[in-house]
Amino acid sequence: MHIDYHTHHERCGHAVGKLEEYVQRGIALGIQQLGLSDHLPLIHIDPASYYPEMAMPMAELPRYVEECLALKERYRGVIDLRVGLEADYIEGYEDQIHEILSPYPWDYLIGSVHFLGEWDITDYRQVHGWEGRDALEVYRLYYDAVKKSALSGLYDIIGHMDVIKRFGYGPQTPEGKAEVTTLELETLKVIADSGIAMELNASGLTKPCAEMFPAEHLLQEAFKLGIPLTLGSDAHNPAKLGDGLQEARSMLWHTGFRELAVFEGRRRTTVPFKL
Ligand SMILES: [Zn+2]
Ligand SMILES: [Zn+2]
Repeated sequence: MHIDYHTHHERCGHAVGKLEEYVQRGIALGIQQLGLSDHLPLIHIDPASYYPEMAMPMAELPRYVEECLALKERYRGVIDLRVGLEADYIEGYEDQIHEILSPYPWDYLIGSVHFLGEWDITDYRQVHGWEGRDALEVYRLYYDAVKKSALSGLYDIIGHMDVIKRFGYGPQTPEGKAEVTTLELETLKVIADSGIAMELNASGLTKPCAEMFPAEHLLQEAFKLGIPLTLGSDAHNPAKLGDGLQEARSMLWHTGFRELAVFEGRRRTTVPFKL
């Protein structure tokens, strides 16, 4: 089974291509299950006074879901589409997030931590946010938020679990690095206990960190803990759909995984995969 559960499209403002172009590309690539998972609109900051092109406007959310559902019907029998959202976890906004998400018939929801307060740690325009900060303290805040996202009950899949490493910032001392490992392992334990899945997101390969999210040593730990894994390219361009997923499957296989987690109506099942 070939799946890609993490994709975006032009509505978010920083991706290109219509939803249907991703679907067409998915068919051409032989992807059997394609998840559409654009970003949740901004809720804790005013889009008008923030960086532009972060996410779709709130008014677009119903239209996004409607278009996804229409495509799911139209392509039934050709490709299995799954309707999802990469929904930011923002501490203190859990009730609001729940309220925004609850009207829609999602197949799955990815919980991703992009924001620490008003700082989007995944935005290349905001890397100056690291300046003058204790990198270890940032990692502590980040992993605390990931744990809370897993425990929130809002999500089915933890998105790019160690994305904090994206731009290559982090503690440089042996003690600092050791604490980061401890934070990562504690977080995996919380994810395992919460019973939700996690993605192997191949997009990190092309980022300054030059490795997937999560890194291989965390994948090994996730396997030992029995965390179900799904796969995502995080494509922001139809031409990049599925990028890195062959390598991702290979990494999963060599770690010991033989099944992938898939979702419909927020119910998780597993499918076997081969190299
Ligand atoms: Zn994006
Ligand atoms: Zn993300």
